[in-house]
Amino acid sequence: MSVGKVILVGAGPGDLGLITVRALEVLRTADAVVYDRLANPALLGECRKDAKLIYAGKGPGGMKQPEIDATLVELARAGHTVCRLKGGDPFLFGRGGEEASHLVANGVPFEVVPGVTSAIAVPAYAGIPVTDRRFASTVAMASGHPAEDEAEERPRWNELTGADTLVVLMGVGALREVTGELIAAGRDPQEPAAVIERGTTPGQRTVVARLCDIADATEAAGVRPPAILVAGGVVGLRDTLAWAERKPLWGVRALVTRPAGQAEPLSAALRDAGAEAVEFPCIEMRPLPPDAGVLTSLERPYEWILFVSANGARAAAAALRATGRDSRAFPPGRIAAVGPGTAAAVEGAGLRVDFMPSRYTVAALAEELPGDLAGKAVLLPGRAQVNPRLRDGLTQRGADISVWPVYDIGTPQPVVPLAEIVGSGVDLVTLTSPSAAGGFAELGGKEAAAGARIACIGPPTAEAAQGVGLNVDIVAEEHTAAGLVDAIIKHAKGRDQ
Ligand code: SAH
Repeated sequence: MSVGKVILVGAGPGDLGLITVRALEVLRTADAVVYDRLANPALLGECRKDAKLIYAGKGPGGMKQPEIDATLVELARAGHTVCRLKGGDPFLFGRGGEEASHLVANGVPFEVVPGVTSAIAVPAYAGIPVTDRRFASTVAMASGHPAEDEAEERPRWNELTGADTLVVLMGVGALREVTGELIAAGRDPQEPAAVIERGTTPGQRTVVARLCDIADATEAAGVRPPAILVAGGVVGLRDTLAWAERKPLWGVRALVTRPAGQAEPLSAALRDAGAEAVEFPCIEMRPLPPDAGVLTSLERPYEWILFVSANGARAAAAALRATGRDSRAFPPGRIAAVGPGTAAAVEGAGLRVDFMPSRYTVAALAEELPGDLAGKAVLLPGRAQVNPRLRDGLTQRGADISVWPVYDIGTPQPVVPLAEIVGSGVDLVTLTSPSAAGGFAELGGKEAAAGARIACIGPPTAEAAQGVGLNVDIVAEEHTAAGLVDAIIKHAKGRDQ
């Protein structure tokens, strides 16, 4: 068997958006992933379903360095492509160089995917540029970790007095010693300093003090690793440049339960408001094979063809494609969509939307559909079970309903359990359909997200959530991704006041 390879990959500092395109590509395709204690465990949700996941962090359940080195060699020799995932950048205080040397010595090919390092990104999220022509043209990065053996290179603190900005990693445990050495070596005890804990994540916390007081201030605030010390004039810029912490949903970790591939608009809106969006699909769409009987029924005209979900529109197009047809095979009739998301999918399937209701609910759709529906044929491409509100509304108006079942909904098999994905927990769970509420409960969501607020896109989803025993805190007034995020922001503001 030919030997595989090891790719040393930087996972970024914590914020999921700060992983590089290449890193994500390697993570998604690797046969095995060997990971440290990650600032963001949700990254593991990106791994292949059949990938070997091996925890190699220091501490309980983890490994010591020689064991990590041996594991990497062994996996590569078994022919695997191994993703060696490390926080931040693999070559900055990440032992990446040591691991690479060991691989070379054992004849194992390796590659490096540099990452966004916490040394620069964490200060940036706290509003501190590490250089700025007005204050700092040089920056030094040092490790404050106490030496593990005699052979280890220690920072020559006296040389670090010359750098305008100083960034110290792994220094919280020994902050008093580190700042003491720096001041003894000649750094100004009065210069501004900041310690940033769990930067770029919802747990980000910043403590600012003079260099001589920062150890006391950090201790008083109970800061724990991972944290970074920044010292120098640039720290003062934070007063005007602290951008991230000012976002309305800053500090909120939100779970997005939408199906894989459909989470983006909601995740993007949440991130834009400052929240961390963790995607964990709680439902999956299962397209139904085209049924010959149903396909003949498409040959007659309909007064209206109603789409009530983006899934329905996509699955209907897919069902036609599976029989060698395309959008021309849709029966004649006017087309309505329940809301903008559905309308976009309908348009994507090559059809024009003629009508959308004033409120994006199936009840409003049934009520506002123009014209006299008595005795008129209405086609519903979607799930076999029609939403009762839609059926009742259309029946009341005397419509003759035909259902075209194109997909069903099931609960997916998660790659990594929800409890592991959310790690220390989530603050908020978003539910955008009644089935998502069911899937979330089925996947152990109630336990994994205990104490989180529950936000629903509309009343039917809220009802379904209550039905599975969840306490609903937020129900959107406008039933879109943006409307849901607006409702969440309003709720957050209400609590701050
Ligand atoms: N290779 C990594 C650093 C590994 S050393 C990188 O390039 O970022 C681990 C140290 O990095 C921690 O002790 C802490 O000082 C720092 N660190 C990593 N992630 C951090 C975060 N999200 N917030 C604050 N400090 C962090």
